[in-house]
Amino acid sequence: MGYSYGIDLGTTYSCIARANEKGEVEIIKNSEGKDITPSVVEFESAEKIAVGETAKEAAIINPENVMQYVKRDMGKEGHNRTFHGVTFTPEEISAYILKKMVKDAEEVVREKITDVVITVPAYFGFDERQATINAGKIAGLNVLGIVNEPSAAAIAYSAKKADKQDKLVLVYDLGGGTFDITVAEIIGDRVEVICTNGDHNLGGKDWDANLADYVLSEFCAKTELTQDEVLEDGEFYNDLMLKVEDAKKMLSTKTATKITLSMGTHKKQIDITREKFDELTRGHLLNTINLTKTVIESAAAKTSSKGTPCNKFDEIIFVGGSTRMTQIKEAIVKEFGMESVIFEPDLAVAKGAALLAQYIKPDSADAGGSNAGAGAAQTGGQKLAASGKFAEVTSKSYGIETYYDYDKDKNKMVLSNVTMKNTKIPCNNTGKFVTLENNQRNVAIVVYENDSEAWTCELSFGKEIARSILELPPGLPRGAPLEATFSIDTSGMLTVTAVEMTKGLKCEIKTEIKGLDAKQVEQLQQKADMMKVGGE
Ligand code: AMP
Repeated sequence: MGYSYGIDLGTTYSCIARANEKGEVEIIKNSEGKDITPSVVEFESAEKIAVGETAKEAAIINPENVMQYVKRDMGKEGHNRTFHGVTFTPEEISAYILKKMVKDAEEVVREKITDVVITVPAYFGFDERQATINAGKIAGLNVLGIVNEPSAAAIAYSAKKADKQDKLVLVYDLGGGTFDITVAEIIGDRVEVICTNGDHNLGGKDWDANLADYVLSEFCAKTELTQDEVLEDGEFYNDLMLKVEDAKKMLSTKTATKITLSMGTHKKQIDITREKFDELTRGHLLNTINLTKTVIESAAAKTSSKGTPCNKFDEIIFVGGSTRMTQIKEAIVKEFGMESVIFEPDLAVAKGAALLAQYIKPDSADAGGSNAGAGAAQTGGQKLAASGKFAEVTSKSYGIETYYDYDKDKNKMVLSNVTMKNTKIPCNNTGKFVTLENNQRNVAIVVYENDSEAWTCELSFGKEIARSILELPPGLPRGAPLEATFSIDTSGMLTVTAVEMTKGLKCEIKTEIKGLDAKQVEQLQQKADMMKVGGE
């Protein structure tokens, strides 16, 4: 029936959906009959893991063998974890979550699932996106594309919304570990992202942490135990975190709840009101409001498809499980005074990814030619651009290291941006540079990703994501022109091509994408294939 698949690989929960050619989309339940699966992995041994609900429960009694929130480590070096003497990268652990999602879904749909679109927070940079593609590869999947979570939600919303009016919307996406705020235009069945912002270290987990601090101090006050005494007990801490999350969810429908905690002979009940919870977590809420203000300002400087400035919003769409907290809707609607819609908070992202996968799924002409990973994602990107259904922006700025004033200070480098954050993608931007010495024989092309919206900024604002050397022909004078072209595909993947422009000699270097090479992926795939993945 030509189904396509989308996976929301969330910080706290993951979800898989399928769409058919008519644009009908549905969530595929896991083997426990649930729409969403905790993104938690328990290492029962080095060869056997459990993923999902049982792993989340195991965190109480077996915390040292359980990995939660692995998404926060994606694309970061030095975040490998060792379980039962074996080291695992964040990509591998994410791959196990993907494997469990796919395995359960295959049981339901009774077909092999290979081609998928996976979602990432809009705020994810290059390394995190690459790591997500690698996780898909390790899981044996062909990653057709990587799409930003709020964009996927906007696609699902545009497919579902009853009125067929064109709209300018704000997508406020607060999940378990990340916050994204995106402005998008919905024009017929086309979704065009205008700009995006966010914080990938802000989510429901942080609300839980504040509530846990409070509950812990109340428990200590009632028992006269010290926090150190209590926190020594990993089992107690994990039980506390599970209870805190449940209490938080309860406060989305009730104005007060209780948590019972016990340690040794001490058993105490702690009352929590919604008012207290809102007061404890106000700082996080304000952070989301400030980021929302910033994105609204960026949008005002952009022009809609109708040629008007993007400063009048029709509605705000809430997605992500954490938008169920009553404080969110109340504060945002009060602050920005616009219509609001809570739209399938846990499911919209996976649904949008599945719909998007329909536009870019391989057709018969691609059979056998498509490989997992960045190559396939580019093919998907081209298809997506051709479909005319969706346009995305880059969520970061990209540039290269240049000298600030070479004659005065040969040590001071700055970052010169070539592609500015919130540029519509796919894009090609060219920066012009010059050689600094006579007969200079090469130039280091050092590529940075950053959040600055200035053409030039301090190097420390950026993160080096790739470097390469551009060899130059002999005899070039000082001031010989060089160009660096930054190409970003629809999946947000970047290629930099540096060219020497003089004498008709063209030196071109493609900056290598960092991350796992094909051999490493193959090895990790084999390791993952050996792993027994359970969780039922
Ligand atoms: P997501 O990443 O979109 O699946 O969102 C997961 C986050 O939503 C977790 O932090 C959950 O604790 C939170 N969440 C789920 N349901 C609720 C609820 N009813 N009230 C408050 N937070 C919730």
